[in-house]
Amino acid sequence: MDFSLSEEQTAIFDMARDFGQERIAPFARQWEKDGTIPKELWLEVGALGFGGLYVSESSGGSGLSRLDATLVFEALSMACPSVAAFLSIHNMCARMIDAFGSDDLKARVLPGVVSMETVLSYCLTEPGSGSDAAGLKTRAERTNEGYSLNGTKAFISGGSYSDAYVCMVRTGEDGPRGISTLYVEDGTPGLSFGALEEKMGWRAQPTAQVQFDDCKVPAENLVGREGDGFKYAMIGLDGGRLNIAACSLGAAQTALNATLTYMGERKAFGKSIDGFQGLQFRLADMEIELQAARTFLRQAAWKLDQGAPDATKYCAMAKKFVTEAGSKAVNQCLQLHGGYGYLADYGIEKLVRDLRVHEILEGTNEIMRVIVARHLLAAR
Ligand SMILES: Cc1cc2nc3c(=O)[nH]c(=O)nc-3n(C[C@H](O)[C@H](O)[C@H](O)COP(=O)(O)OP(=O)(O)OC[C@H]3O[C@@H](n4cnc5c(N)ncnc54)[C@H](O)[C@@H]3O)c2cc1C
Repeated sequence: MDFSLSEEQTAIFDMARDFGQERIAPFARQWEKDGTIPKELWLEVGALGFGGLYVSESSGGSGLSRLDATLVFEALSMACPSVAAFLSIHNMCARMIDAFGSDDLKARVLPGVVSMETVLSYCLTEPGSGSDAAGLKTRAERTNEGYSLNGTKAFISGGSYSDAYVCMVRTGEDGPRGISTLYVEDGTPGLSFGALEEKMGWRAQPTAQVQFDDCKVPAENLVGREGDGFKYAMIGLDGGRLNIAACSLGAAQTALNATLTYMGERKAFGKSIDGFQGLQFRLADMEIELQAARTFLRQAAWKLDQGAPDATKYCAMAKKFVTEAGSKAVNQCLQLHGGYGYLADYGIEKLVRDLRVHEILEGTNEIMRVIVARHLLAAR
């Protein structure tokens, strides 16, 4: 058993961290105010090979492992978790197309996806179905040319901003086996968007409903086989959960680093506040929890890379554990900054707001426990 990163993995982490510090961190607050991320950033991200992190090399991707990808998301979220998490969603979609799409679809769309000229959104949630995703109602009727879509997707990260939407829609019976995945390009007649949602965090990312009104999608845009879409969506989420956890971890590390510096500078009762043992213990507890989170996350990623039978359970466990450890740490860091932690200039309150949603999306942390309990009970 070897817990150290290889030289190549360390180089990947360093490259992502340096890029984030140079090209994302200085602008993150402005993008949050603007409510959008400049599309030019994605072309730079694509040029680094981060637009298809675990798209196979034969399809033009970087062919990295899931463990390698978590390093990229941990490093980028040290600059801004909202930007890093958006990239995770794009990569989740890219991999679904690479793994399950036809040769024609891959040849047609993956070059743009990998270079990030084509930014992707993942459309599963609907107004009436979130955790119970298999209850989705957006209908895709067969036509001579392909499909006609009717329905609404809710909470879509990148809604009205992305260039294409990977959509889970109902082509058959009720339940998971009646769901298929369709690739819907921006500009398709019948595709429209709701107003931008006002959110607590992740404010740099546009979030909107995606609406289909007799939206005509060609048959060639079916991803994989009819009826297998829910399976693809869930497979995509295993890796997505690791990435979201990594985003919590990187942001929490940034908050801890800033807090260590701040506590050496801030004075109270005639000494710097890092001299109070009660506060030192809080720093120590954060370090312990974040290191445990890091180890657990990398183990879960390794399980997914190995195709281990319990990989889904480990991804769910890591997502719950790491996102909660991350949220707890950034909140503690805010407290250790006193009133200054509450001010935007110190950068901590944004992290508290951004990380909160990691406990809710890609499956809520309650649903993570449902998955773990289901595995435990089945293995009795
Ligand atoms: C900012 C943001 C961005 C998002 N981006 C996307 C996106 O890009 N694409 C996409 O498809 N979706 C996206 N989502 C949607 C997200 O995945 C859902 O909000 C999430 O899955 C929860 O669904 P829900 O909001 O309908 O809550 P509900 O499912 O209604 O859950 C409400 C509460 O009940 C709990 N609960 C539900 N069922 C159970 C159960 N069986 N056992 C125990 N507790 C349960 C939940 O944990 C939660 O606490 C996004 C959400 C947000 C907030």
